[in-house]
Amino acid sequence: MIDPVLLTRDLVRIDTRNPPGHEAAATTLLADTLSDAGFSVRVQSFGEGRTNLVARIGDEGPATLFTGHVDTVPLGTVDWSVDPFGGEIRDGRIYGRGTTDMKAGVAAMVAAAIAEADRIRERGALVLAFTGGEETGSEGAQYLVAEGKLGEISAIVVGEPTANRFLAGHKGALWLRCGCRGVTAHGSTPHLGDNAIYKAARSVLRLETFDFGIDDHPIMGKPTLNIGTISGGQNINSVPDRAEFTVDIRSIPGLVHESVRGEVQAKAGAETAIETIIDLPSVWSDPAGAIMAKMAAAVSSATGRPTEAASANYFTDASVFTPALGFPPTLICGPGDPDMAHKTDEYCETVRIAESVAIYRTILAGL
Ligand SMILES: [Zn+2]
Repeated sequence: MIDPVLLTRDLVRIDTRNPPGHEAAATTLLADTLSDAGFSVRVQSFGEGRTNLVARIGDEGPATLFTGHVDTVPLGTVDWSVDPFGGEIRDGRIYGRGTTDMKAGVAAMVAAAIAEADRIRERGALVLAFTGGEETGSEGAQYLVAEGKLGEISAIVVGEPTANRFLAGHKGALWLRCGCRGVTAHGSTPHLGDNAIYKAARSVLRLETFDFGIDDHPIMGKPTLNIGTISGGQNINSVPDRAEFTVDIRSIPGLVHESVRGEVQAKAGAETAIETIIDLPSVWSDPAGAIMAKMAAAVSSATGRPTEAASANYFTDASVFTPALGFPPTLICGPGDPDMAHKTDEYCETVRIAESVAIYRTILAGL
């Protein structure tokens, strides 16, 4: 039996901040652990030190997919009061960058998979996919699905931080970079130039009243649009010939990103050129569906708490895996506290890690 808290600590001690990523050492640790337990493992490389891991056990038939990412966000600008790469265990918490998001989730999945390995060998199949590059837009997951070797997947469990709540989906993200061009001139003769900042400003104000034209999702609510950054011009005494702003759209099921982008273009106007930065669709699985209901029962029997339909605000690798694998029912459930993700002095409660192992084992036992 693998101790999931100690495995979390070992993973936290490997620096996988992204950028630059460098997940290879973490991937090797997981590959060795799973290989020793009889899983067939395969490492996919997608750049210098950048890796994904796929491990499989069981028969050739449709498999359950457990997935998580091993990269983390950077440390931020504020000093930590603990060693962010120490994995210190104190007062029922394990501290460090990536404990909550989401090395504890990965460790709990590995511990559960190894504990249930004999049972899975007798019946069913499990694939573990541990990705790199998630924090910068699910880069690793995109390489994995492009390779097309995951096989038939009947259900997906994403171990992102939910404090072990049962989440049936999350919003999508469509991030756009919008640019306006003009003609520069001396600041004292603006009539001789064409001011790009005025164009961007008009475009931004038109987008303030953007209407998605869709009813609220019963759980996720409304889609949103936010202008996150704006920049333009080089110096005070010139007419700016370039201005740029970025748009962060969080979508709900029923919205097609390509159409949304077209509507944003129409609203922003022809003088604005749009480029896509991130395009990750929303994910939603009907909680009343047979497999989702079974997984909900597993979560509530392992935690002793009732489950209710809920969704996450953040996006996950499910935006890539779920559509690419034919929309298998997708659960998001993991030990991290969603409020601790990306924070200074990040930690995960060790009792939650044990609880996640129980949840994942119950799900696997029901395959
Ligand atoms: Zn995450």
